[in-house]
Amino acid sequence: MNRYWSKRLGEITAYQAGEQPQDRTYIKLNTNENPYPPSGKVLARLNQVDTEMLRRYPDPDARLLKQAIASYYDLEPGMVFTGNGSDEVLGHVFMAFFDQSAPVCFPDITYSFYPIYCARYGLSYIQIPLTSDFRIDPDTYPDRCGGIILANPNAPTGRFLEPAQIKKLLGRNPDSVIVIDEAYIDFGGASCIPMIREYPNLLVVQTLSKSRSLAGLRVGFALGQMGLICGLEIAKNSFNSYPLGSLAIAGAIEAINDQDHYLQCTGKVAETRDWLSGCLLGLGFDVIPSLANFLMIRHASVQAEVLYQKLRERGILVRYFNAPRISDYIRVSIGTRADMQEFLRNIGEITAAGTSIGTKAVSLPL
Ligand SMILES: *Cc1c(COP(=O)(O)O)cnc(C)c1O
Repeated sequence: MNRYWSKRLGEITAYQAGEQPQDRTYIKLNTNENPYPPSGKVLARLNQVDTEMLRRYPDPDARLLKQAIASYYDLEPGMVFTGNGSDEVLGHVFMAFFDQSAPVCFPDITYSFYPIYCARYGLSYIQIPLTSDFRIDPDTYPDRCGGIILANPNAPTGRFLEPAQIKKLLGRNPDSVIVIDEAYIDFGGASCIPMIREYPNLLVVQTLSKSRSLAGLRVGFALGQMGLICGLEIAKNSFNSYPLGSLAIAGAIEAINDQDHYLQCTGKVAETRDWLSGCLLGLGFDVIPSLANFLMIRHASVQAEVLYQKLRERGILVRYFNAPRISDYIRVSIGTRADMQEFLRNIGEITAAGTSIGTKAVSLPL
């Protein structure tokens, strides 16, 4: 706290992104980045950028990108909102659709940015517990509330909720917006996008960061009926008219249009995930069933924080959350098959050493 800070700022705890260390080369399995490069057409397009394009402001409405997204998902361009990563899109969503009159609902274990947006906008919220096996149970959500946001597949568990279950929530909450954050949907789940024309209170948020290997370009989008999208445009135009630069717009269009490339990459990631999951079960890990590009795992005898540290010393970064109910787990992003073979070899050695000591929470000899 600094004497010049506003009261509002003093009340916010900021999000802690996974580390992006520069000190050495890691096998980086901590921020759910895609291990494969983006479509070659993206870089080819960026290489054609000329000085005229940089001299001018970008299109504030990113119309060509909205057209590309709309035609890919069979919607109208007026049903697409774009932003500087889906984190920014979500920021506008919390401001535009959730208000102080009733609490926002989301799971107790989910993307940890949601409570932070609530703090930013002074919103109250209720965290609804996942079931003991980390599922979202729609019947535990209230019929009337200030809005619901669910990550599907959920983060950091990876568990997927069937769209038919989400339909129940949409029908029961006609007066509030239900936001489905589909950051990981392309790794095997079924999207709620086909339900948008039926439900005026459904907003689906996606990103190019994970399935399209473009975390560095910063492009996210929201899809919904016109009324919701117009609301997001007002939120955006009261904050920054040009959230997407010309390079981001141009690159994102190529990525959306190169369907084959991203389907190939997400297919490989899903295949590696399912193979890895089987191997980890064999090594004595509990693995939460995942349709995302990561696995949440725990070992019977070696503590999660110890696993995280020992892997880090060996040049492998994973994510450890020191949070209720999940502090026994580490989250492992799916890399290439070679990355994951290296990961398995190391975690196999670490747990073998840990198990031979036979106690939990001791520091392990390497
Ligand atoms: C990664 C992630 C995002 C943010 O992605 P951007 O890079 O900002 O587009 C949003 N929601 C969830 C659940 C995520 O895991």
